[in-house]
Amino acid sequence: MKEKLSLSRRGFLRTGSLFAAAPLAAPFVSAGLIPAAAQAQTVTPALSQPSWYRFAIGEYEATILSDGLLDLGSAADQFPKADPAEVQKIMDEEFLPMAPMMLEQNCLILKTADRLVLFDSGMGSTKLFGDDSGKLLANIKAAGFDPATITDIVLTHAHCDHCWGIMADDGTPNFPNADIHISQADFDFWTDEGKLTAGGFVQTFVEGARKNLLPRRERVFFFDDGKEVLPGIQAVSTPGHTIGHTSFVITSGGQNFLNVGDVVHHYALLFKNPQWEFAFDSDPAQAAKTRVKLYEMAVSERLPMIGYHFPFPGIGNIRRDGTAFRYVPAHYHHG
Ligand SMILES: [Zn+2]
Repeated sequence: MKEKLSLSRRGFLRTGSLFAAAPLAAPFVSAGLIPAAAQAQTVTPALSQPSWYRFAIGEYEATILSDGLLDLGSAADQFPKADPAEVQKIMDEEFLPMAPMMLEQNCLILKTADRLVLFDSGMGSTKLFGDDSGKLLANIKAAGFDPATITDIVLTHAHCDHCWGIMADDGTPNFPNADIHISQADFDFWTDEGKLTAGGFVQTFVEGARKNLLPRRERVFFFDDGKEVLPGIQAVSTPGHTIGHTSFVITSGGQNFLNVGDVVHHYALLFKNPQWEFAFDSDPAQAAKTRVKLYEMAVSERLPMIGYHFPFPGIGNIRRDGTAFRYVPAHYHHG
């Protein structure tokens, strides 16, 4: 955590749990529960954050790598058609502040028999949604990977937090030996020169997508709905958030695993209210339909899943909860 300690409410909310260990030790020392010798030897540890998490999907090795947090401001602003009181109620129930609404970025690296596949590339160095993003490359290295050995980048869609990590600031590729796989619909929409004067976030996102995808155009490949992108990785078209948004079913050793991408951004709000419109959805009505359809598929097939924007590492299951749905996070296993 690079930012300075802050006593502001916002700073406390964003960093409170991470900084809890050191101050909490003090009363135990003064009460004699921690010997003075131990106190003398105590070295303040470097602040740690969860950065990568490894598990198995059948015979594949899967690693979730954090690109850090996105600050989306007030939750109420991100769901413009929702009743703010209802948003507040759910955030209260989840012990979350209404603002800032922080979303994680959980990138997945899948090691198959002969490929090293990265799903989504994070924000890159830009700080469009706060200073806590852009950690993917460091975490890839921390997890023991060399970015040059990534053979493929599979993109759920071409928004900033998913494809702006492809190129470095100096114009060189961060993953120089990787092919890039994306739906043609999303590639065409977000690299469209005609949208360079669109204004708003669309223009900003198009500028960034062009900067990251066009220099690698000769390595870009398009996939088809329902077909294998790569062996063991099937594309499932899930339009709405973007026109060509795609989720993926990973299959290995008799196990299936669903990468939902941005069909759902918030682990609580959009399971209780899958019909809510999210501010960055290209087609909110279609996004809501897609969301329910994907939830029903995951429920009926008991598919474990990863949510790109869920609390790290973002792995769990979806179950019904009355007329709505609920995310059930997987237990965190060490080692
Ligand atoms: Zn996203």
